Amino acid sequence: MNILLIGSGGREHALAWKIAQSSLCDALVIAPGNPGMAALGECRNIKATDVPGLVGLAREIKADLVVVGPENALAEGLADALASANIPCFGPLKKAAQLEASKGFTKDFCKRHNIPTAAYETFDNVEEAREFLKTYSPPYVIKADGLAAGKGVAISPDYQDAVAEVEAMLGGRYGPASSNIVIEEFMTGEEASVFALCDGETAILFGWAQDHKRAFDGDTGPNTGGMGTYSPAPIVTPELLRITEAEILAPTMAGMKAEGNPYKGVLYAGLMVENGRPRLVEYNARFGDPECQVLMLRLKSDIVPYLLAAATGGLKNLPAPQWHEDPAVCVVYAAKGYPDSPLTGSVIRGAEQDFGPDVTVFHAGTSRGEDGSLRAAGGRVLNICARGKTLQDARDKAYDAISQIDWPGGFYRTDIAWRAL
Ligand code: ATP
Repeated sequence: MNILLIGSGGREHALAWKIAQSSLCDALVIAPGNPGMAALGECRNIKATDVPGLVGLAREIKADLVVVGPENALAEGLADALASANIPCFGPLKKAAQLEASKGFTKDFCKRHNIPTAAYETFDNVEEAREFLKTYSPPYVIKADGLAAGKGVAISPDYQDAVAEVEAMLGGRYGPASSNIVIEEFMTGEEASVFALCDGETAILFGWAQDHKRAFDGDTGPNTGGMGTYSPAPIVTPELLRITEAEILAPTMAGMKAEGNPYKGVLYAGLMVENGRPRLVEYNARFGDPECQVLMLRLKSDIVPYLLAAATGGLKNLPAPQWHEDPAVCVVYAAKGYPDSPLTGSVIRGAEQDFGPDVTVFHAGTSRGEDGSLRAAGGRVLNICARGKTLQDARDKAYDAISQIDWPGGFYRTDIAWRAL
């Protein structure tokens, strides 16, 4: 098979690493890719949002399957354009990707199909939102409806702050993404990420993990795209998975199909777990980054049949995916200044050495200097991932590898997986 993979982050490097191991993969082309992925396939410099360019590339390489990593490509309608060109695509159509792209859409959908989530109302008017806030007690949860690069959620400690957030969002802080807002009940509990592959009819579980959103140790500092992950997460018990499948994933698949909007691709359920029961915080229409990295390290089965079945149908005919028992940990090595203003351009030494069979380094925001050196080119730069006999062992291996990388321009959290240890 000829496979085209879209994206350039650590998530896509991990997918490329796993796809390249498949005996079904004859050729892997990646757009745009990154220096780490260049060893696994042919990188073509076409942006993930350049829909005509990517469809042209898929035609040129006679792609049997296109795997879409990032949500912005889906929001641009890449899956729709590929469907029109009759090219199988792993990733939902734009209308189904609303499960991620519009929080109001998802909340209304959950209400229609009795999917457990926080109570809420949507608003486009400051006065009405202000009045509604009076019916809730703090902390207040205020969300921009649309995609805001992970920044569109405010948790306000008091009424004044909440009103200021409402005014700022409806006043256009995130442009059209915040012309509608959702005000939600605050949920307590512990968060977990559960992944399912979907083919429009069936959803099958495809791994679970926990992440660390805050920039600094002890879960302090600003929110980020994610500073590290581990899998499995002890909070995700077989019983929790059973309830999640029965009460959240299955009704979502059935509801989307019944509404003429079948969902294909990966469905990432962000859950709040309290007393062993899950409630949906959010859906994402793509793998988590860096959750994907630990899932790929633990996935024993060939990934390609699953990606293909999600794109073309027949997931229910495949055996349940097999996972390595060994836990995996991913530590994100970010450029100093991330997430607000990461300093790019600094040289990284020692990241491309052989750290042994249990350690894999995925690239995210890296570039190759003219002298061949590896440089920081983004906020989150490297993902140091390891598998071990125990979670502690995996974590020790990841931190041992980091200690061998010479990068004064970077920082990382030293407490990834603390909750489980
Ligand atoms: P992401 O970057 O994860 O895609 P997002 O901008 O789509 O984030 P959400 O996932 O909906 O936003 O919310 C971000 C975070 O805010 C959640 O991971 C959770 O910690 C917190 N949060 C969101 N909704 C609630 C809620 N109703 N109660 C408590 N905490 C919440």
